[in-house]
Amino acid sequence: MTGVLADILDTARDQVLERGEGLTQEQTLAVLQLPDERLDDLLQLAHEVRMRWCGPEVEVEGIISLKTGGCPEDCHFCSQSGLFESPVRSAWIDIPSLVEAAKQTQKTGATEFCIVAAVRGPDKRLMSQVAAGIEAIRNEVDIQIACSLGMLTQEQVDELAAMGVHRYNHNLETSRSHFPNVVTTHTWEERWGTLKMVREAGMEVCCGGILGMGESLEQRAEFAADLAELEPDEVPLNFLNPRPGTPFGDLDVMPATEALKAVAAFRLALPRTILRFAGGREITLGDLGAEKGILGGINAVIVGNYLTTLGRPAESDLDLLDQLKMPIKALNESL
Ligand code: SF4
Repeated sequence: MTGVLADILDTARDQVLERGEGLTQEQTLAVLQLPDERLDDLLQLAHEVRMRWCGPEVEVEGIISLKTGGCPEDCHFCSQSGLFESPVRSAWIDIPSLVEAAKQTQKTGATEFCIVAAVRGPDKRLMSQVAAGIEAIRNEVDIQIACSLGMLTQEQVDELAAMGVHRYNHNLETSRSHFPNVVTTHTWEERWGTLKMVREAGMEVCCGGILGMGESLEQRAEFAADLAELEPDEVPLNFLNPRPGTPFGDLDVMPATEALKAVAAFRLALPRTILRFAGGREITLGDLGAEKGILGGINAVIVGNYLTTLGRPAESDLDLLDQLKMPIKALNESL
């Protein structure tokens, strides 16, 4: 072990664990560059940081796609774009199915139910569907409602806030410098603008992205710094699951050690945020991934199926939390 390699974790222990100050971009890069032999030390520190600044609870969230596929944007990782030869067809679900999904989600112990639509931004039809869906869920299910409907106008932000939407998800996806290699139909700055409006309207901000889209380690550290500047309440971290027919369909899956290093580095850059495992982790991390990740900085999971690919069954995630003695965050603690 060299002095330089030991230093970044020692520095992080003092700065992040003891004082609660997240790593800078340069420090995050140093963590991402650690050799694999340091992975266990890194995961241990990330776990301690998470326990110290977030506590042992794990937030469980369910997710439902109100409108799937047929999106006019060209995010190169996404099988819901209508511009690629991807197999996901455009489809809507009806309000009774939405309410049923919310009920099932609540039964798992989840506190958050996120309504997602594959769109550039909502139109009048989608906004009225969301309003009707939220009202129907409210009448029958006690759960916080989040939405992910793409880029918003100020008027739409105000409407969603008035509907009582608790949290809004809009991912920056990757660093500002890498974004033009991933999306060409809109800009990183447009996404940032929506996030600022959401925050100012008083909704919680959920913003993350996808790792393993050809970004350099420098750009991965840049992304962590971008997020630290935004200070989101929650950061969903995805790993690229290369989908056939998308421009990124032939990229390699990120090696498990690199993915775990990234999770821990993001925890050290964002000590207080809810850091959530989202899509792609099964293929990247395999069966051990959930356990290592939850002991390496993660404190939230999505239960059940993801939007377009099968996730692990809810029970296996919940059993794991039980085995690890990680309590599920209760609804009244997050109100
Ligand atoms: S990520 Fe969202 S905006 Fe981009 S193509 Fe997919 S559904 Fe559309």
